[in-house]
Amino acid sequence: MLIAGYRKAWLSSMSIYYKSTRDDNVKATASQAILKGLAPDGGLFVPSEIPALDKSLEELATLSYKEVAYEVMKLWLDDFTEEELKNCIEKAYDAKFDTTEIAPLVKADNTFFLELFHGQTIAFKDMALSILPHLLTTSAKKNHIDNEIVILTATSGDTGKAALAGFADVKGTKIIVFYPKNGVSPIQEKQMITQKGDNTYVVGINGNFDAAQTGVKNIFSDKALEEQMNKAGFQFSSANSINIGRLVPQIVYYVYAYSRLLADGVIKAGEKINVVVPTGNFGNILASFYAKNMGLPIAKFICASNENKVLYDFFETGEYDRNREFVLTTSPSMDILISSNLERLIYKIAGNSAVKNTELMSALKESGKYTITSQMKEQLVDFYGNYATEAEVADTIKTLYENEKYIIDTHTAVAATVYEKYKTQTKDETTTVIASTASPYKFTRSVMNDIDSSYETMGDFELVDELCRLSGVKVPQAIEEIRTAPVLHDTVCETNEMSAVVQKILGI
Ligand SMILES: *Cc1c(COP(=O)(O)O)cnc(C)c1O
Repeated sequence: MLIAGYRKAWLSSMSIYYKSTRDDNVKATASQAILKGLAPDGGLFVPSEIPALDKSLEELATLSYKEVAYEVMKLWLDDFTEEELKNCIEKAYDAKFDTTEIAPLVKADNTFFLELFHGQTIAFKDMALSILPHLLTTSAKKNHIDNEIVILTATSGDTGKAALAGFADVKGTKIIVFYPKNGVSPIQEKQMITQKGDNTYVVGINGNFDAAQTGVKNIFSDKALEEQMNKAGFQFSSANSINIGRLVPQIVYYVYAYSRLLADGVIKAGEKINVVVPTGNFGNILASFYAKNMGLPIAKFICASNENKVLYDFFETGEYDRNREFVLTTSPSMDILISSNLERLIYKIAGNSAVKNTELMSALKESGKYTITSQMKEQLVDFYGNYATEAEVADTIKTLYENEKYIIDTHTAVAATVYEKYKTQTKDETTTVIASTASPYKFTRSVMNDIDSSYETMGDFELVDELCRLSGVKVPQAIEEIRTAPVLHDTVCETNEMSAVVQKILGI
C-alpha cells in the first residue's frame, strides 16, 4: 500500500499539467486543455513545465516524421496512452500528404526551406490540423464527454480551410469557420466555400481578421450561451492556434528538421541552427521556442513580419501597440495586429507570472497596448524581429526564381527577405531553416505577378498552369479540386451578428 501510494505520488510529480496564463489555480490535463481550447478566464493554457527531450539528437536523427512526432508529443500530452497517441499520429500523417517525408527540407540559396505545405490544403496549418480532430475526439472519449463538439474558428485564410478539411465528416463534431470576406486570397476563399461535409459551415464577415477573432473570443466567453449549448448537447472547442492541440504538433517539425540536417551531415549533434518564421498569430515561432526549451539547439528565432509589423516594433522597443492602420498585404495569413500566442511568451518572460501577464493583457484590451519591463525584454535576446515591404517580397520571389528556379509563396518570401536583412546586419553564417508555410499555388496570382507583371491579364487557372510550367512542380490536388467545385457556402454577416449566426446554425 505504502509503495503503491508513493509510486502514485511519484508518478503524478513526473507528469505535467496545464494552467492558464491568467490564473495559476486553473489547471487541466493535456486532454482537458485540448477540449477547452481557451482557459475559462480567457487565458491560454501553458504547461506547468516544458518537458525535455528524452532521446538524444543522434537517436532522433534515425527516426521518421511519425516517430519524431510520437517522441515529442508523448512528452506534452502525457495523459494519452501510447496506443491513443500513435493512433492519432497514424491517422494524421498518412496519404493526405503528397510525400512520405511529410515535411521535406529543400536547399536553395544556401538556406534550408522546410516545406510545411505538403498536406491536403497546401499550407502549414495542415501540419497540426490533420491531427487535431483525432486528438480532440480522443480527448472527448478520455473525459467521458457525450456532447457534440462544435469547433468555432476565425481564420485569416489558411486555418479555415485546413480546419474544415481536418474536421469534415469527423463523427461527433461540427465546424463553423468565420473569415474576413474581403481579406483572403481568391483561391483561399474558393477553397473554403467549396468545402464538402455535412458538418461544415463557412461564414464571411464584413470586417478584418482581428474582428473575426475578437468575435469568436466573445462567443467563447459567453456563459449564457455555453449553458444553452450544453442543454442542447453541444460544447465549443477551438481549432485556432491557441489550442495546445495545434501548438504541440508544430514543435515536431523543428525537431524533425534538425534531425534531418544531422542525418544528412550538414550539422554536428549539438550544433546550433537558426530558424526564420513568417509570423502572424505567433503560433509557429512559439513552437520553435518551445522546441529550444525542450533541448533542441536553436540559436536565433528570426521573426518575420509583413507591413503589419507590430511584432518588429515590439522586439525593437518592448512596447506592443496594436493602434495602427491595418494593412492588407499579399501575405494575408500574416495580416494580424493581435498575435494571440505571444501571450504565452509574455507569461514565460514574466517569470511564469499570471498576475503580470494579466496586467499586460488587460492593458492590451483596454488601450490596445502594453510595455514589458526591461527585465522581461532581456529575456528576448534570442529573438530578432524585422519586416518586409510588399516591394521587397516581390523582389525576393523574382530573384530566387531567377537564380535558383525555386518558387516560394508570398509568406515564405517575407521570411526569406527578413533573413537577408538579418544576414546583412549580423554577418551570421549559422545554418538556417526557413519555415516555408504555403505552396506558391495557394497564392498563384501574387507570386506570378511578382515574377512578371505581364501575367496580370491571365485567368486564375491559366496562371496555375503557367506556374507549373515555370517551377516544374506538379499542380497539387488541392488546386485541381477547386477548378470545377461548386460553391456550397455563401453566408455573409456583420461582426455583431456572429453569435446569432452560430445559434441559427445549431438550431438553438
Ligand atoms: C498562418 C500562417 C502564417 C502565420 O503563422 P502563425 O503561427 O499564425 O504565426 C504564415 N504563413 C502562412 C501561409 C500561414 O497560413
